[in-house]
Amino acid sequence: MSEDNSAESLLSHALGRQRAAFESDPYPTLGQRRDRLDRIARLLKEREQEICAAVSRDFGHRSLHETTMLEIVPLMSALRHTRSHLKRWMKPERRGRSLEFLQLSNWVQYQPLGVIGIMVPWNYPVFLALGPLIDILAAGNRAIIKPSELVPQTSALLARLIAEYFAPDEVTVIEGGVDVAAAFSALPFDHLIFTGSTAVGKKVMAAAAANLTPVTLELGGKSPTIIAPEYDHASAARDIVFGKLMNAGQTCIAPDYVLVERSRMDRLVEALVTEIKRCYPRQTSATQYTGIVGERGHERLLGGLQECHDRGVRVVSADIALPQTGFSIAPTLVIDPPVDCRLMEDEIFGPILPIIPYDTLDGAIAFIRARPRPLALYLFTGNSEIERKVLAGTISGNVTINGTLLHVAQNDLPFGGVGPSGIGAYHGLDGFKRFSHARGTTKVRIFNPARLAMPPYGRLTEFL
Ligand code: NAD
Repeated sequence: MSEDNSAESLLSHALGRQRAAFESDPYPTLGQRRDRLDRIARLLKEREQEICAAVSRDFGHRSLHETTMLEIVPLMSALRHTRSHLKRWMKPERRGRSLEFLQLSNWVQYQPLGVIGIMVPWNYPVFLALGPLIDILAAGNRAIIKPSELVPQTSALLARLIAEYFAPDEVTVIEGGVDVAAAFSALPFDHLIFTGSTAVGKKVMAAAAANLTPVTLELGGKSPTIIAPEYDHASAARDIVFGKLMNAGQTCIAPDYVLVERSRMDRLVEALVTEIKRCYPRQTSATQYTGIVGERGHERLLGGLQECHDRGVRVVSADIALPQTGFSIAPTLVIDPPVDCRLMEDEIFGPILPIIPYDTLDGAIAFIRARPRPLALYLFTGNSEIERKVLAGTISGNVTINGTLLHVAQNDLPFGGVGPSGIGAYHGLDGFKRFSHARGTTKVRIFNPARLAMPPYGRLTEFL
């Protein structure tokens, strides 16, 4: 008989094996969970060099510094946080009871869900595979990871490393192209977390719906930045350049465009150029600036810029030395582009930053409200009334005030989108709960009050 080696068959086999292991051990102890977390930490510490090298090859170029800072350090921090809080998170959570039920006790126990699928994009291929894994293992689950086909070196390395540090019935990696990803999303997981684009997120949710598999969707979008009229634009420029040019703008929460008071727009452009030159001087930029993943992504970004040129938009490109390998695009500012151009309609996901002038703060808020709810919002202000107004007037997945990107590194904050930028949040306690079943439990301690309500009726009404 011939063996069935189709992707579907391999996937069902992997899921079946993990589910059987889960059924034989459905509530791992604190010690087991900590041991799994410790193995992620060991993997990262012992294999950091290999990880940085693989990521750099996939990106054409990405500096060791950037991969360590953006992928390894936040994972180690999340591991420390989770490890030290896990005992408390696993404890049953006492809940209140109403007067008529004083004889009972109520609590919530967070139970593992089972086997969870993790679908990973290419832009942070380690952080977005192992970040969810930390929360998933802390919550006592098992996991199958599907990395992106656009980062084949990192994907192959992850598969190899996970197989070294974990048994295949604990955590495993399945590699493959879009066909495998589509089959993966159709598996009857106990939960599926997908990080990627909104367009593919819709397909994944539709596939998961056939199995009633609950999903967490970590999607993209255009994250706006508002500089309030009173805020020092040079100081804002410093933080914006940091958030925008990390990973060459290929960050889901990168500032996508900046809203600035019309009278200060030119001064902001100058300050941004100065800051770009300070961060990426010609002597170091070729080794410190990250490449663009994939020819298609590169062409998409160039196409967006070409459209701006064709429509007479002012474009300011920073003169930096680019990496020698792969594809790259210099940091580029696009000044006051029309709102119907591609760069203002689609998520940019590259080192291009549109600057949009506003006449009033209300106008800036209305601009954001008129667009799909973004994953992140950045506000620069020292004025508490402006802060209150912007926070009350907008909806976004997360917010950082007077900085960029920082919220994603806070272990005790939920991270996620809203509406088209995502469903459900994770990280820390929120991740532990996201990948658990909150089982509400009621226990009769001495006397069951329901006995007063049993038929034949009559006594209860007297009692009440
Ligand atoms: P993508 O949606 O193209 O791919 C993500 C994953 O989906 C990949 O693993 C791919 O194999 C898989 N996939 C592709 N086609 C599929 C299909 N038809 N069915 C099932 N799976 C399929 O996204 P990308 O280009 O890898 O990543 C960029 C996007 O991800 C951006 O929109 C970015 O904002 C978003 N993103 C979001 C977050 C977040 O935390 N919210 C983080 C990083 C990236």
